[in-house]
Amino acid sequence: MLKELREIVQQVTASSDLNEAMNELVRQTRSAMNVDCCSIYLRQHHQQHYVLAATDGLAASAVGRAKIPLGEGIVGLIGDKEELINLADARSHPQFKYLPEAREDAFISFLGAPIIHQRTTLGVLVVQQKLERLFEEGEESFLVTLASQLATVIAHAEAKGNLRSPNWHGMLRGLAGSPGLAIGRAWVWRPRIELAQVTERKADDPLLQHQRLNKVLVQVEDELNGMALRLQESQASESVAVLEVYQYLLKDPLFIALIRQQIDQGWIAGSAVKRICEQHIAQFSHMSDPYLRERAADIRDLGQRLLTRLIHEDEGMHSLSLDEPVILVADEISATLIAEIPANKLKGIVSAKGSVNSHAAILARSMGVPAVMGIEHNFELLEDRLLIVDGYNGDLLVEPVASVLREYKKLIKQEQQMDQLFASVGHEPARTLDEVPVALLLNAGLSANTIISANDTVEGIGLFRTEIPFMLRDRFPSEQEQITTYRRVLANYVGKPVCMRTLDVGGDKQLPYFPIVEENPFLGWRGIRLTLDHPEIFLVQLKAMLRASLGLDNLSIMLPMVTNLDEVRAARRMLDRAWREVSAETPEHEVIRYPSLGVMIEVPSLLYLLPDLAPLVDFWSVGTNDLTQYLLAVDRNNGRVANIYDALHPAVLRALQQIIEAGERFGKPVSICGELAGDPIGVLILLAMGYRRFSMNSSNILRIKYIVRQSRCDELKKLLAETESQHRLGSIKQIFGRYLEERGLGGLLRGPR
Ligand code: PEP
Ligand code: MG
Repeated sequence: MLKELREIVQQVTASSDLNEAMNELVRQTRSAMNVDCCSIYLRQHHQQHYVLAATDGLAASAVGRAKIPLGEGIVGLIGDKEELINLADARSHPQFKYLPEAREDAFISFLGAPIIHQRTTLGVLVVQQKLERLFEEGEESFLVTLASQLATVIAHAEAKGNLRSPNWHGMLRGLAGSPGLAIGRAWVWRPRIELAQVTERKADDPLLQHQRLNKVLVQVEDELNGMALRLQESQASESVAVLEVYQYLLKDPLFIALIRQQIDQGWIAGSAVKRICEQHIAQFSHMSDPYLRERAADIRDLGQRLLTRLIHEDEGMHSLSLDEPVILVADEISATLIAEIPANKLKGIVSAKGSVNSHAAILARSMGVPAVMGIEHNFELLEDRLLIVDGYNGDLLVEPVASVLREYKKLIKQEQQMDQLFASVGHEPARTLDEVPVALLLNAGLSANTIISANDTVEGIGLFRTEIPFMLRDRFPSEQEQITTYRRVLANYVGKPVCMRTLDVGGDKQLPYFPIVEENPFLGWRGIRLTLDHPEIFLVQLKAMLRASLGLDNLSIMLPMVTNLDEVRAARRMLDRAWREVSAETPEHEVIRYPSLGVMIEVPSLLYLLPDLAPLVDFWSVGTNDLTQYLLAVDRNNGRVANIYDALHPAVLRALQQIIEAGERFGKPVSICGELAGDPIGVLILLAMGYRRFSMNSSNILRIKYIVRQSRCDELKKLLAETESQHRLGSIKQIFGRYLEERGLGGLLRGPR
């Protein structure tokens, strides 16, 4: 049966049309199971019934017509109970419901399995036979397996809008790319020239082709500079860094040399660009790291820009003139497309492709434009329709009904008022109402918006992730390249502390030129484990950090993924050596300050080693993202277990308590640099525990500052003690949520959580 099962699954999943897939499935299943009938009933949520969607055995005329109300008949019972039902004689079952239009009189035995996707019943898959018999165990599991495969196909088709008419209205679910809410008309963008449209051609004038290429390279560079300027002038000046990837590619001698090589082989300039871009796209698309996978989109966009210029010589990109602010909708949205639209005309963004790591999402976040990514839908159907983009949950509402629209308008108004409120505290100190000073620091490095720019609303950088400069290259960056990057950051924060973390690759962050293939990458060769095994990489990084800090004296260094004390000792020896060597090479009148060294507390083993760790380090910082992942044994990137991933799980809370207490006992400064620090409820609980240093993404700084300034540590402490003594840690979110609501900050609870 396994062979048949595989064949059915393969054919069904390969089909692009849902009806075709269902018809194929019922036909093949009937034959593979040797039964007299196989049918699929789909649940129609709005109409409160199941409808016969495909059959091989019942009357074909009943498809789309025969309906069973929810909760009725055996089909309804399967849907309710969410489990398989196997009956030798269905007619004798008390809930048996005869469907006259389906003509099922001849069938006696019945086996039905629910079709469930992500805990939602989508329908029921049924086989029937004229013979009175109980189906065997093997047949049961065969049907259950098919139903689970069918669930994915149906969910996918539903998401793509296959089941919907052009005037459908309702909600589509995607990924939250950039927080916020927006209401507006859809403006569907289609690329002028797509790589795939270009027919490859050869010519015998390579010199001319080189000249054409040179010309468009300059033009596109000018175009990018213009965009950067426009971004700088708008409030999104921090986002210019996103365009750096494009500028870097345009100047990358390897990339351009490859295009030139193609021209030398006889290809015309456009074909040469297409061929090399497609090669690069294929390479990037196969990378396992989600950030790097997204770079394929940058290359496609850049290629299309070059082609547009080459094909419509002198004409360039059409300038985007929009009368009204719109919600930009496209199959794939590039950072440059966003940069081309005047900031006051862009209300929201919806993209079929992409994720939170797309540059479009990064840029949208830094511009404060709500974005939903990964919505698969026939976008043509959305043109000019009214949309609500909910960038907190990743929802897109199409032609919402009046009451929903009203509700969202109210929420947007509240948000605007809140933002004004938060902005008003930008330059105020982060101090609670009972005068407890709190340090708010920035997490920088991962998103382009914080790489280079200074931010004067914070006290420094609490975590600079150094992975991205390593990921964006096709080899390890040289010491000089690293010095340039690090110096830029340190110099932007003169007089303020900058905590740089040593390379934390492995896990879900892979270097394209240093692939690590492992069964369990999050439990594998990651962070300090890898760098200690490669002193040549580690030493260069430490030296680059030290040299970059010359004369600035604001550097501290932090080690990721520490599990054992020996790792700390070994890293300390490396730092000593790096410092001795760079000091020896530094002119006598200049001194490189020996930086303070700390560790990330993110592997649970350290919870039990804190007293032994204290003498070895100067500070520690809690990485709540990984600490939660490792304490709860739940992959932080796996959507299937996302409901179990909870940084406020009582076990994580107890661990956090233990860490701050140990810090106080051993006189070690402790900070939090995981996402919990930027969470409105999280920060209150952490304040209650005694934490006073929080490092977070730039988008969270102002609202967290505002919350801090509205809170009293003594009250929070009391609230936590009560929660603890009443054994109510499980309800901590509601308890501290109420504290926010009482201060008029309930609106924050719907933020990105
Ligand atoms: C963490 O694990 O909480 C952390 C801050 O590090 P990263 O998210 O880079 O793993
Ligand atoms: Mg971590």
